[in-house]
Amino acid sequence: MVLSNSMIDSFGRRITYVRVSLTDRCDLRCRYCMAETMNFVPRKDVLTLDEIVELADIFIARGIKRIRLTGGEPLIRKGVDRLVPELGRRIGRGLEELTLTTNGTQLGRHARMLADSGIRRINVSLDSRDPDRFRNITRRGDLAQVLGGIEAAEAAGLRIKINMVALRGLNEDEIAPMLYWCSSRGHDLTLIETMPLGDVETDRTEHYLPLSEVRARIGRQFRLTPSLARTGGPARYYEVEGLGVRLGFIAPLTQNFCEGCNRIRVAATGTVYGCLGHDQKVELRDLLRSRGAEGVARALDELLAGKPKGHQFTIEAARPAVARHMSVTGG
Ligand code: SAM
Repeated sequence: MVLSNSMIDSFGRRITYVRVSLTDRCDLRCRYCMAETMNFVPRKDVLTLDEIVELADIFIARGIKRIRLTGGEPLIRKGVDRLVPELGRRIGRGLEELTLTTNGTQLGRHARMLADSGIRRINVSLDSRDPDRFRNITRRGDLAQVLGGIEAAEAAGLRIKINMVALRGLNEDEIAPMLYWCSSRGHDLTLIETMPLGDVETDRTEHYLPLSEVRARIGRQFRLTPSLARTGGPARYYEVEGLGVRLGFIAPLTQNFCEGCNRIRVAATGTVYGCLGHDQKVELRDLLRSRGAEGVARALDELLAGKPKGHQFTIEAARPAVARHMSVTGG
């Protein structure tokens, strides 16, 4: 590989983390994430598994230390059981960590493969532990299947962080119980604020719950000590006294976290975005096919030069901040 210069944007931020979407498709339709009927990218426009590996190698040569596989739902991508072991072979050879964010539905059959590939920790999205509510929020999910997946991940020795989107009127009363549950199973918990990404056919503001409010509420129930721990992502962590749980808050609306941004995001089509909240992007798929690593390197330089300083999400705006859903950018 000819490339070795590291990636630094025009604000001096070093990019060491890439989130790679394996597909924009998902087997769930979470209300705040997707519309009931979604138009997915035609399969022919999606990067092949070989191309994903090729891109990963280029990123690693440019100083990327951590890759997170995401989507859509990464574990429904056909061939994921070949791709993950292949990427796992890069761990310790430039790549420091390979991780995955999943809704957990397919963990029952893939958890062992993930662990065997060198993945040590995963994020599992779980917004409710009540079967009816879970089905309502995800519009189709089977809670038992996800809990079974989590058990399989535990058995495979994967460290688990539960991601829970805080939703007014839908799961706010489950946040404290979720903390106790995570404590009993040795998981960490991160709460996420609803972000205005993509049209979901319903009004997101209805269930928007500012995490500043949640933190104040939880702070009255538990003693929270700010933690210096960082996992490379935007979450700010607290230790919850007596529970042994690390509680994270991803609050893009009430606590902007962009100044330390270290990441870029590759959509399943090979489009790379500099920011979740902007349209700034470069297209890598055709370049990779026609001009190889050199062409991709130049496009990445262009991306870095224009990487936005940050997002300016507000929940009040009638329209989403950006038209793409989180599932397209690779949440
Ligand atoms: N399917 C995987 C999953 O469920 O974790 C990975 C992709 S999903 C887009 C990644 C995370 O983004 C999930 O935790 C999901 O809850 C969250 N998410 C999706 N849309 C969101 C939005 N508009 N605001 C906040 N979080 C969102």
